[in-house]
Amino acid sequence: QPFDGHALSPETTAFLARDMRLLIDGERVEGCAFHETRDPATGLVIARFHIGGKAQIDSAVAAARRAFEGPWSRMAAAERTAILQRLARIMEANATLLTELDIIDNGMPRFIAGLTTANCVEMVDYYAGAILRIEGTTTTPPRHVSAEADALTYTLREPVGVVGQIVPWNVPLSTAILKLAPALAAGCTVVIKPSEETPLSLLALADMFSEAGFPAGVVNIVNGFGADAGQTLAEHPDVDKISFTGSTATGRRIVTAALGNLKKVSLELGGKSPVIVMPDADLALAVPGVAMATFFLQGQNCMAGTRIFAHEAIHDALMEGLTQFAAGMTMGHGLNPATMQGPLISEAHCAKVMGHIEAAKAAGARLVTGGEKLARAGNFVQPTIFTDCAPDMAIMREEIFGPVMAVQKVSTTDIDELARLANDTPYGLSGSVWTRDMAFAHRLVKRVRSGQVSINCHGAVGTNIPFGGYGQSGWGREFGQEGLDAYLETKAVTARL
Ligand code: NAD
Repeated sequence: QPFDGHALSPETTAFLARDMRLLIDGERVEGCAFHETRDPATGLVIARFHIGGKAQIDSAVAAARRAFEGPWSRMAAAERTAILQRLARIMEANATLLTELDIIDNGMPRFIAGLTTANCVEMVDYYAGAILRIEGTTTTPPRHVSAEADALTYTLREPVGVVGQIVPWNVPLSTAILKLAPALAAGCTVVIKPSEETPLSLLALADMFSEAGFPAGVVNIVNGFGADAGQTLAEHPDVDKISFTGSTATGRRIVTAALGNLKKVSLELGGKSPVIVMPDADLALAVPGVAMATFFLQGQNCMAGTRIFAHEAIHDALMEGLTQFAAGMTMGHGLNPATMQGPLISEAHCAKVMGHIEAAKAAGARLVTGGEKLARAGNFVQPTIFTDCAPDMAIMREEIFGPVMAVQKVSTTDIDELARLANDTPYGLSGSVWTRDMAFAHRLVKRVRSGQVSINCHGAVGTNIPFGGYGQSGWGREFGQEGLDAYLETKAVTARL
């Protein structure tokens, strides 16, 4: 049954009946082929959409260049602010459509999709306001100039130029908006390639850009496959910067592709984040907190805390609480408001996650709960917990991107030793520490090599809080002022007066 029998709003139903074209130079244009997207909870096709290849990327980049040199980078700051603010209001008015599209395209539960849509509106408003805070400085002129005459030195912050953005499927609207909003605020123009798995919410956004008053060519949306449209965009000689969110393996390809014209590169990549639970942790907080660190978004979350270091004094009580929590998670279609755990994105990804579960059993990890694919349509894998994991097991090292928690029992309370365990990974995206001893927590946090570490909570992202990876989790930061700086160049000007 489509959507497991759940009803869609009239606006979403109407949207799904449309011809899903690309957005290039302000026009909805045909691509070079079609691709289908499925509801991961049922496996049924929900829409057929146009995809682009080299020709479409080339014309999108040319349109973005014209818009950059034309209206957008020259527009008065207040006018750019007003257009972004109008976009925020239009998104707000269409929140149901945007939320439902991410649910049926990605499989995420409604409580997450509703939250991410609201965060996206906040993000557009935040960067609309930040336009007025794009500030240069004045500084002391160089000695050889000021020795001879009065002089003045100041800096200008200017947009990087035409930006290519490539985004993943795991939080489709949000990973796109947190690139689009700061880039547009900075005065850049954009060609964005959504994931071939989840095109819908960005296609809906395409209409909203025009309605908000963005000039043609400022935002271009080209759906397509990574190896074709994505690769062409990353290699493109007329793109000044590429901003990528996705797997570490693809991130390496992006860097190589960007070498030709040495375009600037920002990367938000994978993770295998540590969660450290000390003997004095408040279990009433730690049980749901640690469970959701792994199981939020079915574990298809770059910040997922999937390596749990549980102190032996609390291990058994924690396992008991986590098992109960996992068993109590309602699984089902994301449109059902009671759903806490939806499906994985695709059959292929589901098979990969099940392979990791089998490998963990074979390696000697002890299955505490879950481990099964549900015998129903869709790609549902139970929330799964393994304990007795050892640091060299694949389950402790590889990003699984599924609802699979690996627990290692530890006997130490030594900060150096705990930090060594936490840092034993090429990644460095997130992490958390669970304890009542705040001095201990802050000391340990300072040793963890990671872009984000939380105390008694996990994955605490926020519009104004810089987010990004140490190590192989990425280059640069998104969110907050640093997210805007990523799309700005600095020009130093000296005038002999
Ligand atoms: P992916 O790397 O397979 O794909 C991401 C995007 O890159 C897609 O749009 C894809 O079409 C494109 N792509 C693939 N090959 C390409 C190529 N050769 N050239 C150019 N583009 C190419 O990742 P995914 O499976 O869509 O997403 C999951 C991954 O994303 C996980 O590793 C996750 O940790 C990561 N992620 C990171 C963050 C973060 O902020 N750090 C956020 C979300 C997801």
